[in-house]
Amino acid sequence: MKKVFVLGSTGSIGINCLRVIDNLKDDFEIAGLTINSNTELLLEQIKKYKPKVIVVRDEKAARNISGKIPKGSELLVGENGLIKAAQESEYDIFMGAMVGFAGLAPTIEAVKRGKRIALANKETLVVAGEIVTKLVLENSAEIIPVDSEHSAIYQCLIGENLNEVEKLILTGSGGPFRDKDKSFFETATVDEALNHPNWKMGSKITIDSATMMNKGLEVIEAHWLFGLPAEKIDVVIHPQSIIHSMVQFVDGSIKAQLGLPDMKLPIQYALTFPERVQNNLERTNLPSIGSLTFFEPDMNKFECLKLAFNALNEGGTAPCILNAANEVAVNKFLNKEIKFSHIPLLINKALDKVETNFLNDLESIFECDRETREYVLTLT
Ligand code: NAD
Ligand code: MG
Repeated sequence: MKKVFVLGSTGSIGINCLRVIDNLKDDFEIAGLTINSNTELLLEQIKKYKPKVIVVRDEKAARNISGKIPKGSELLVGENGLIKAAQESEYDIFMGAMVGFAGLAPTIEAVKRGKRIALANKETLVVAGEIVTKLVLENSAEIIPVDSEHSAIYQCLIGENLNEVEKLILTGSGGPFRDKDKSFFETATVDEALNHPNWKMGSKITIDSATMMNKGLEVIEAHWLFGLPAEKIDVVIHPQSIIHSMVQFVDGSIKAQLGLPDMKLPIQYALTFPERVQNNLERTNLPSIGSLTFFEPDMNKFECLKLAFNALNEGGTAPCILNAANEVAVNKFLNKEIKFSHIPLLINKALDKVETNFLNDLESIFECDRETREYVLTLT
């Protein structure tokens, strides 16, 4: 039996992870569940999966359920609770399904223990890729990507030599505003931006898909996962989201991984790798899909994608500034404090204002994240 610790169990990836494990009951069990504040769903999950450790980050939410925790489960609270659970509880696989920079610290603890990290939380690699990948090597940990593009590339690279890769081709649907003019971004509403054509996801990543910052973050994530420079990472718009990404080799051959847009498949792969296990997920019916189309992304329209490439090329703490500014800007947009078109403006201002440093240690990343957030909070 493999024990799985789910960081962020009430989110879109967390819920899908539990569904995958429902189908793999003989081999996997839940060791820990952590959430921010959705205690109603958490209580249902606790009843069903009986985890040894539970963490609720929001202290008020934790107080509300402290009397309802069954014997045999321990409730920890706050950010310290997340760290302590990652450091001390018993598990084999750490499912990083929390959203945002806040996922970094607990993920680091799992890496230090040499665990398998099934990583959905791309922000962890965006802000601290250099440090995290070094710690993975030092501690014999492993990261199996859950992000569908990176899972696709990981699968295409099995049996291949990284030196023979010419480039990675990340596909992206183009999001809900793929066919809109840039002028539309002045009036785009929160509901319109949350209406993704192909994927059902949490609100932060859905807005990131509408700005295409999601693809930008994924370029940086791919850089750290596969050790290739920005020039060897291409982005191609593929509206059907059937090809999840591709690898082109030095002989010109391209390998692709295909499937329906359903995160349960990359989640299952990250849990069972190197094995593949039978499931009842819907199969891809190519004739019914009919055609797969591709085109170049418009970097002038989707400025966030360009900003992410720039930050990767600049290096050091630039991706951390990009990420922190984006998290604050997306929050402001979701709270209707700024227009959709202001998201890249705020990020650009932060990249200008906050000084980029070398990535010395984790403390410099936390400091950079704090400083950037403080600054962007003052902007409109
Ligand atoms: P979500 O918003 O649906 O869920 C986030 C989870 O994290 C929830 O359980 C929430 O309670 C918890 N959480 C949020 N903030 C927290 C905090 N400060 N402290 C503790 N817990 C906190 O997000 P999601 O869509 O499931 O995405 C999770 C991660 O996976 C993101 O990094 C996202 O980019 C990545 N990802 C998601 C998808 C997808 O299909 N949803 C696909 C690829 C990658
Ligand atoms: Mg993705």
